[in-house]
Amino acid sequence: MVQKELCQCSQRYATSITSIKMRDEIESFFEEQVRLGIYAEVGVTEPYQRWSDNERHKEYYASHWYKCCQCGCLWEIEEPDFPAEGFVRKFADGKYREWDFSDYCELINPRV
Ligand SMILES: [Zn+2]
Repeated sequence: MVQKELCQCSQRYATSITSIKMRDEIESFFEEQVRLGIYAEVGVTEPYQRWSDNERHKEYYASHWYKCCQCGCLWEIEEPDFPAEGFVRKFADGKYREWDFSDYCELINPRV
């Protein structure tokens, strides 16, 4: 039996969140997916970035993580705090990793 994929993960990509309109669109998309039982909000347990010097250590945690119940994809949302932009990151294999150079490349050249 062929199982139909109900989620839209394969059609959505990582992106920067550069406007309030975009923030609202992304927020309502994820809320709708949760309402439909396709995504589940899960606790944010790891920082996307760590920073430290001799005296201080900082860890930055995103606003939300969503797990797709259909394909196992993990989504990370950092809400914008304008003028600071937010972002959406995608982990298609469901495995989380901290921010690295590939994220810059992906967010600078979004595949929308
Ligand atoms: Zn999915």
